[in-house]
Amino acid sequence: MSAIADNLNRVRQRIAEAARGCGRDPADIRLLAVSKTKPVAMLREAWEAGQRAFGENYLQDALPKIAALEDRDIEWHYIGRIQSNKTREIAAHFAWVHGLDRLKHARRLSEQRPATLPPLNCCIQVNLSGEASKGGIEATRLPELARQVAALPGLRLRGLMTLPDPASPLDDQRAAFETLAGLRASLAREGLSLDTLSMGMSRDLEIAIAAGATLVRVGTDIFGARD
Ligand SMILES: *Cc1c(COP(=O)(O)O)cnc(C)c1O
Repeated sequence: MSAIADNLNRVRQRIAEAARGCGRDPADIRLLAVSKTKPVAMLREAWEAGQRAFGENYLQDALPKIAALEDRDIEWHYIGRIQSNKTREIAAHFAWVHGLDRLKHARRLSEQRPATLPPLNCCIQVNLSGEASKGGIEATRLPELARQVAALPGLRLRGLMTLPDPASPLDDQRAAFETLAGLRASLAREGLSLDTLSMGMSRDLEIAIAAGATLVRVGTDIFGARD
C-alpha cells in the first residue's frame, strides 16, 4: 500500500473512532483531503485509495491540478480566501466554497456560476475568538448574511466553517467548534437548516467531531507536512 493510502486509512480510522466515541455514525462525517501545495501525483494516489473530495487554497495552484485530473470523478472544494477577481474561476471550477464571508463575493459567485452546473455549495466562514486568519464574518452578523446567501439562485448554502488558530490551545479550539455548532442550531430555530459543519483539521479532528463536525479538512496527516 502507498504511504498516502496508509495515511488515509489512519485518518479514516480516527474519524470512525471519534464518531463512535461520542455516539455518532461515522458515515455522517465526510473527509476532505486538503491537497494545497501537493503535486498531482499525490492526489492521484489518494484517488486510487478511494478519496473523492479534495480541498485547495490557492487558485493558480489548483487550476492545473483540476485540469490534469479532469477525467476523474473528483469533487473540488475551494477553501482559501476569496478575492473578487477570482470569483469567476472559483464559480466555474469548484463544487464547494468554504470561506464565504461577504455578500459581495456571494453575489458574484452566484451570478458567475455557469448555468450548466448545479448551484455552488457554500459554507459561511465565521470568525470566532482566537483565530489566526482575518477571514470570516463576526457571529453577530451571521444570521443576516446567511439569509442573503440562502436567497441567491446560483448558490446553495450548506453550512458554516471555522478555522481556529492551529497553535491555540485545544480547549480554545473546542470552544470555537462548540460555538459554531450553536450558531447552526440557532439558525435552524429561525427556519434556516444547514447540513454542514466544516471544522476540524489534522490536529483537532477528534474534538471537532465531538462538537458536531460533519466535514473535516485534513491535509498534513494525509499528504505530509507542507514547506
Ligand atoms: C491547510 C488547511 C487545512 C488543513 O490543515 P492540516 O493541519 O494540514 O490538516 C484545513 N482547512 C483550511 C482552511 C486550510 O487552509
